[in-house]
Amino acid sequence: MSVLSKSYFHDEAEAFAHVEALLWADGRVCPHCGTVDNSYRLKNQRTKPTKKSPNGVERHGLYKCGDCRKQFTVRIGTIFEESHLPLHLWLQAIHLMCSSKKGISAHQMHRILECTYKTAWFLEHRIREAMRLPLEDQGALGGNGKAVELDETYVGGKESNKPIYKRTKARYASKAAVFSMVERGGQVRSMHLMDVTAATLRPILLAHIDDKSVVMTDDAGQYRKLSDDFAHEVVNHSADEYVRGDAYTNTVEGVFSILKRGIAGTFHHVSQQHLGRYLAEFDFRYNNRSALGVEDQARAATALRGIVAKRLTYKSVDRTEG
Ligand SMILES: [Zn+2]
Repeated sequence: MSVLSKSYFHDEAEAFAHVEALLWADGRVCPHCGTVDNSYRLKNQRTKPTKKSPNGVERHGLYKCGDCRKQFTVRIGTIFEESHLPLHLWLQAIHLMCSSKKGISAHQMHRILECTYKTAWFLEHRIREAMRLPLEDQGALGGNGKAVELDETYVGGKESNKPIYKRTKARYASKAAVFSMVERGGQVRSMHLMDVTAATLRPILLAHIDDKSVVMTDDAGQYRKLSDDFAHEVVNHSADEYVRGDAYTNTVEGVFSILKRGIAGTFHHVSQQHLGRYLAEFDFRYNNRSALGVEDQARAATALRGIVAKRLTYKSVDRTEG
């Protein structure tokens, strides 16, 4: 049986059961008053009849709270709320994004789900929000004797592909700086920065990296003073040195190579405004990768758990493409 033939990808009642099992593993929570396990299922509920559906539509997964007497479903208070897209299609979208190493463009999603491009675009951004690890869950990278590799890269259109009047001579003028920190054998954390000067980086490094770690960088100027705060190993890329014993930055370069192939091949253009969400998506897949024993279905389940309290409305996502 293929993964795609799972019933929750096709049947709305099964989709609700699947999401409920994941989100309410420790008991059914009323999103209105927070009461746990004092609610009952409302069976055979239908929406009001309309011209299109004279008998109304079945309302799946509807519960009534025994405390506050209000009704709720598992969609309330999550990124699924206020979305008219059936839950089983959401599950298809999450699975596709979690199992595609370089991502799925909104155009492809719109063709697969047979929804509008706008719906697909918005859906993808909401799933990216669900993939973003909340700040309070971001522990320090590295630790005693552990290696953390740092590097920066630039993403954005090639100057030669732009109309002449928009081209600029400055090397990185229209490109966005992406800075990543990767613990070898562990997690990555990427961010979109306005610049990657020593002054910008220092507070970030102190906040995100355990000070007993060994940090590995190339010989770029902004890393020169790192040894004030950390044990620091440098590979002299400018002298064509790439590996010297344990000193290398190949891990973080591998992370960038997937990101760049994803952005070039799948998304073509990512606006600076939305870059942070794409980084959250790529970091999420890396941090839940096969090499760490996380396979597609487990990765999709982790993304699903991330949807709680990650509501994103049209107001907070600008509708510009990118
Ligand atoms: Zn309640």
